[in-house]
Amino acid sequence: MCGIMGYVGARDALPVVIEGLRRLEYRGYDSSGVAVWNGREFHWEKCPGKLEVLEDRLKRRPLPGSLGVGHTRWATHGGVTEINAHPHFSCDRRITLVHNGIIENYAELRRSLRRHRFTSDTDTEVIVHLVEEHYRGDPLGAVRAAARRLHGSFAIVVAFADHPDLLVGARRNAPLVVGLDHADTFIASDIAALLPHTRKVAPLQDGQLVVARRTGNGHADVRGVDLSGRPAPLHPITVPWALEEADKHGYPHFYLKEIFEQGQSLEAELQGRLDMKRGGVVFDGLSSDVKRVRRVAITACGSAWHAGLVAKYAIEALARLPVQLELASEMRYGDTPFDRGTLLLAISQSGETADTLEAVRLARRNGARTLAITNMKGSSISREAEDVLYMRAGLEIGVAASKTYTSQVMCGLLWAIQLGRWRRTLSADHARALLREARRVPDLVRRVLDRAGAVRRVAKRLADCKDYMYIGRRFNLATAFEGALKMKELSYLHAEGYGAGEMKHGPLAIVDDRLTTVAVVPRDGVYPKMVSNIQQIRSRGGRIVAVATEGDGNARGVADEVLAVPRVDELFSPLVTVVPLQLLAYHTAVRLKRDVDKPRNLAKSVTVE
Ligand code: GLU
Repeated sequence: MCGIMGYVGARDALPVVIEGLRRLEYRGYDSSGVAVWNGREFHWEKCPGKLEVLEDRLKRRPLPGSLGVGHTRWATHGGVTEINAHPHFSCDRRITLVHNGIIENYAELRRSLRRHRFTSDTDTEVIVHLVEEHYRGDPLGAVRAAARRLHGSFAIVVAFADHPDLLVGARRNAPLVVGLDHADTFIASDIAALLPHTRKVAPLQDGQLVVARRTGNGHADVRGVDLSGRPAPLHPITVPWALEEADKHGYPHFYLKEIFEQGQSLEAELQGRLDMKRGGVVFDGLSSDVKRVRRVAITACGSAWHAGLVAKYAIEALARLPVQLELASEMRYGDTPFDRGTLLLAISQSGETADTLEAVRLARRNGARTLAITNMKGSSISREAEDVLYMRAGLEIGVAASKTYTSQVMCGLLWAIQLGRWRRTLSADHARALLREARRVPDLVRRVLDRAGAVRRVAKRLADCKDYMYIGRRFNLATAFEGALKMKELSYLHAEGYGAGEMKHGPLAIVDDRLTTVAVVPRDGVYPKMVSNIQQIRSRGGRIVAVATEGDGNARGVADEVLAVPRVDELFSPLVTVVPLQLLAYHTAVRLKRDVDKPRNLAKSVTVE
C-alpha cells in the first residue's frame, strides 16, 4: 500500500518524483503530495484524490528544485484531507517528511511533544516533530534518535532545509529501496519506481538508515548505518529487470499480464540449469555443504507455502528424505528440532517476509543449514540464509502471486531432482526423463493460456456461486490450496482448499446445490481416487468444476464444467493445473468489479507479523 519517492541529485526533482509516484500507483492510495527545495524554502502541493489532480495543480504551479520528496497516502490515521496528506513539516517548516506505515505509540509521543504545533490528525506528524526535537545540526543523528523512539512500522524519507543536498531514509517493517546512479540518488518504496532511472539498487534492511548526499564530483555519497549509529553498508545489486516489466503492455491488469508471462518465466527458470549429459540440475554458487542433509524442513507463508508442499512431495519421492513442512508463522514460535543434518528450505518471493525471515534465524541459531528460494537479490532472506536459489520470475506487481508461484514450484522441483542425484536415489536416466518433461512445461502452460477464453466463459456461467471448495490430492493438493487462495484474494468470495480424501471426514456435510467444488483431477497416480471423491460430492447435489486432462471423458461425465489441461508427468502437473484456476479467479474478480491488482486489506511484501 501507499508509496514514497525521494530524489536528490543534479536534475529537476519534480518530474522524477511524480514519475516515481505514478509507478507506485498500483499499490493503492487516496491522496498524494510533494515537497521540493527551491533554494530558499520547501514549497509543496498536496491534495486528496488521484495523482492526476496533483499533477494538474502542479501544471499551474511548477516547483523547481533538485531535492524533492513525494508520497501517495493510504490513510490509516486521520481522514482523507489535504491537511493529512503527506509530506508533513516541522514547526519551522525546515524539515519535511513522508512516511508509510503506522506509528503505534503516536498518541503518547504527541503528548510528549506538547510544545510543537501539530496541524494534522495523522500518526505520521509526530515523526517530523520528533526529528525536529532531536535536531542539533546533524540530520542523520536526528532521524536516528527519532526512529529509536517509534513503535510500529515505518519507511520514511526526510529532507532538511539546512542541508538541501541531502536525504535521509529509514525503515522498519515497511520496504524502502535506494536507487543509485552517479550523482543521483532515489529512495522509493519499491524497485518499480526506480526502473526508469537505474537498475543499481540497494534494498534497505530492517532497522537500517541511509543518508544520501549530492557531492560536487559527479558521484553521490551514500552511507548506511543501523539504529545505534554503527556503519551498516548498503549492498547494491543490479536488477535484471527491464523498464517494460513495470508497464501493463495493453493488459487491463498487471495480474493478468503476469499470468500470461508464465510461459516465458518458466523458460527462464530452466535456462542454463539443465545438464542433460549428466542428468542433473546446475545451480550457481551453492556451497557443497548444502547436499549433505539427512532431513529437510520447508517453511514459507501463503502461496510460497503451497509451492513448499509440492517441493515436499517431490523431495520425498526423488531424494527419499523425510520432509517437514511448516508455516513460517508457526515455526518461528515452535520447537522444530534443528541440527547440522537438517536443511531449512525457506521460500519467499520478496525475501522480506517477516515470519519466514524469523524462521531462518531460528534455524541458523539452532545449527541447521539454510537455503532460501527468493526472487529478490539483496533481500534480507537472501543475505541471512547460507545459500540462495534465485527465482527468475522477473518483477511481479500484482499483489496476488501468479508467475512467482509457478517459478517457486519449478525451483522446488529442480532442487528435488538435483538432491535426488546427489543422494543417488534418482538415476541419471530417470532425471533426464524428468528434465525433458520440464522442458515441455513452458509450452504446455502457453497452451492453457491459449484457452483463456474458455475459462472466462466458465467464470460467467458460475456467476451465482458464492461458496467454493477446491479439492486435490498429492501434487495437486497444493493446486487446490492455491486455487482457493486466488479466489479469496481476488474475488473476496469464500473459497476453501481441501484434501479430497478429507471430504468425508467433515466437509461433505456442507455439500449441497449451493456449493461449487473445483476438483483438480489430472491423469496422475491418484486419478481413480479423485474420481471417487468427486462422485461422493456429486451424489449429494454439489456442482463440480473439474481441472482435467484433455480428452478425459470420465471427468466430463462427472463434472458440470471442465477446464482442460494438457497431459504432463504428475511431478510437473501443478505448474499446468494452476493456470486455469488463476484465470478463473481473475475473471470472477473482474465480473465482481474487484480491485484485481491490489485486493483490499492485502500487501505484496508482508513485512509484519
Ligand atoms: N499512517 C500514515 C497516515 O495515515 C501513513 C499511511 C501510509 O502509509 O500511507 O497518514
